Amino acid sequence: MKAHDGMYIDGAWRDADGRDAIDVVNPADGQVIGQVPAGTALDVDTAVRAARAALPGWSATPPAERAARLSALRDVLVARKDEIAETITAELGSPLKFSQSVHAAAPIAVAGSYAELAATYAFEEKVGNSVVHHEPIGVVGAITPWNYPLHQIVAKVAPALAAGCTIVLKPAEDAPLTAQLFAEAVHEAGVPAGVFNLVTGLGPVAGQALAEHPGVDLVSFTGSTAVGRRIGAAAGAAVKRVALELGGKSANVILPSADLAKAVNVGVANVMSNSGQTCSAWTRMLVHRDQYDEAVALAAEAAAKYGDRIGPLVNAKQQERVRGYIEKGVAEGARLVAGGPEAPREEGFYVSPTVFADVTEDMTIAQEEIFGPVLSILRYDDEEEALRIANGTVYGLAGAVWAGDEAEAVAFARRMDTGQVDINGGRFNPLAPFGGYKQSGVGRELGLHGLTEYLQTKSLQF
Ligand code: NAD
Repeated sequence: MKAHDGMYIDGAWRDADGRDAIDVVNPADGQVIGQVPAGTALDVDTAVRAARAALPGWSATPPAERAARLSALRDVLVARKDEIAETITAELGSPLKFSQSVHAAAPIAVAGSYAELAATYAFEEKVGNSVVHHEPIGVVGAITPWNYPLHQIVAKVAPALAAGCTIVLKPAEDAPLTAQLFAEAVHEAGVPAGVFNLVTGLGPVAGQALAEHPGVDLVSFTGSTAVGRRIGAAAGAAVKRVALELGGKSANVILPSADLAKAVNVGVANVMSNSGQTCSAWTRMLVHRDQYDEAVALAAEAAAKYGDRIGPLVNAKQQERVRGYIEKGVAEGARLVAGGPEAPREEGFYVSPTVFADVTEDMTIAQEEIFGPVLSILRYDDEEEALRIANGTVYGLAGAVWAGDEAEAVAFARRMDTGQVDINGGRFNPLAPFGGYKQSGVGRELGLHGLTEYLQTKSLQF
């Protein structure tokens, strides 16, 4: 894998101040596949200064020209799609087909959607005797995780570019090669120097320096709730805008009128996809008491079919963490019906697709985000109980409802405290806002709502 040994700042790859390097490891076999520099606070400062210097020019660039750069960026991502998929597979261990169809494809759709939005959005609008200007918020500090490494970058950088903001990105230390490839794509797309800058490095060093830098106007963070809470607190103290996309513990509610086999099979696939490392995964399946045994049997069968076909977890630490949760589930009395803490292979950071039955609301595996291929199946007696269980965690990122009648599912979804609900399966829509209720976050990504996160308004009265 090609790795740059510098930072992409002000339109060029420059030597890093940081002398330390971060090893990039392929989690499928534990082999080191490259090294990137671990940025320091000085690297972050250099990048923020470049972003600030580029801000007047980029924010004054006509939206049509910004749209043209985004369109060019989308085209570069399309042209380099295979390379992107291979890089993500090397860093994350995800099966190549999944890297192509999801990891590489979703960001292309998102970049395309913002090329269109930049061209069509009314950055000025008349409201009575006023004209409201929607202006870029300024310099954006973007901090991203590794689980959908390119999608999470594009979900921040594309709307920020569309809005006229300039950006410093600190990507996850587990997937920095994807971020370097993205920086190459931005360069190739003709985005002016300083508008987008990349600093690789460790979270508590480079990430923290970026989040706390006074030259950053908006911190947009995707990652764990623990880190998000700290970033939110620091932003509050500095009276600075913040967007937080955090964890989840989403409910998959199967109402008695649903096609049970379909709901269970799609539900299992949703949890096992990306080896369970999806913040919006439907990790709690809620089934009516009368259909419970049948659902458990179907889920166990579906999970067993995955065998060792899912990818590994991202690193040894995550593998240990997920195993720890599985052991806790057993210790707290849940019934293991598929998988378990043992890995299906000796090499790589694998965990078997795991399904727990007889899970009750109070159990740790029903409350905490596991971030691995682990499904908990809970029973409910009636709709009111299903709703109470569905809403009974600190999170509210996503969810699903299945019913024979779409209107019945929608009626239930309206009462769920969560930011996104898939009705009878659902499909990815790059224009639909994505983000959390409760402790799943603050703000929205994607579509028009994602664009407005990067704007501030000014009213001119006449
Ligand atoms: P993490 O919070 O450890 O890391 C995320 C990013 O924050 C990384 O770039 C990391 O280097 C950086 N970071 C770490 N400590 C920091 C600090 N003190 N200051 C500033 N930056 C710091 O999370 P992770 O383990 O990489 O990702 C998994 C978590 O992310 C899960 O909880 C998952 O639910 C969540 N997630 C949420 C979404 C969403 O859209 N809501 C999407 C993906 C992942």
